[in-house]
Amino acid sequence: MPIYEYRCHRCQKEFSHLLLNLREERNIKCKYCGSKTLRKLISSFSVHQTEASRLANFDTSKPRGDDFYRDSRNIGLWAKKRMKEMGVDLGPKLDEIVERGRTGKILEDYEK
Ligand SMILES: [Zn+2]
Repeated sequence: MPIYEYRCHRCQKEFSHLLLNLREERNIKCKYCGSKTLRKLISSFSVHQTEASRLANFDTSKPRGDDFYRDSRNIGLWAKKRMKEMGVDLGPKLDEIVERGRTGKILEDYEK
C-alpha cells in the first residue's frame, strides 16, 4: 500500500495519506488545517532497514507503545541492544532469549 506520511508546515501536524496515483500528490491538503504546504516524511511502511541500522537507531531508554511491542522484530532487537548496554554477554543463549522475547515472555522475565 503506498501510504505516505506528511507533516504540515502550518500546523506541524503529521498525517498519513494513501496515495493511489502520484499525480494526486499535489492535491493533498493537510487534514487538520487544509494547508497545501506539506513535507513528505519517509514512510515507515516502505523503509527497509538492515538489522544493524535498526540497532544503531534504537533508543532503549525511551518508552515504547503497544504498537512497538506488537512487532516481534522490535522485541528481538530491543532485547539484543538492552543486553549489550547492560554488558551482558550471553553468547549463544542470547538467541534463545530473543526467541523468548518474540513470544512476549522476555518482558516478564527481565523487567522485574
Ligand atoms: Zn495543517
